[in-house]
Amino acid sequence: MNEDMKCPECGNELKEGYIFSPRRISWSESGESIYMDYGSETLVKDAWLKVKKIPALRCEACHLVVFKYK
Ligand SMILES: [Zn+2]
Repeated sequence: MNEDMKCPECGNELKEGYIFSPRRISWSESGESIYMDYGSETLVKDAWLKVKKIPALRCEACHLVVFKYK
């Protein structure tokens, strides 16, 4: 990832770290609540045994996190 990436909102330098989740992370273009995640796109699959950490950048001022899902 580009190391000197700046926050798109405030322009601060983003801090490097890792994002991880024991559950899948999904994407939907609709903001409506759903019971099942049917129709949504899985960005990060469920973890089995080992939790995969994804390199990420975050802005502590804006509470914004940027990560690549592939
Ligand atoms: Zn920011």
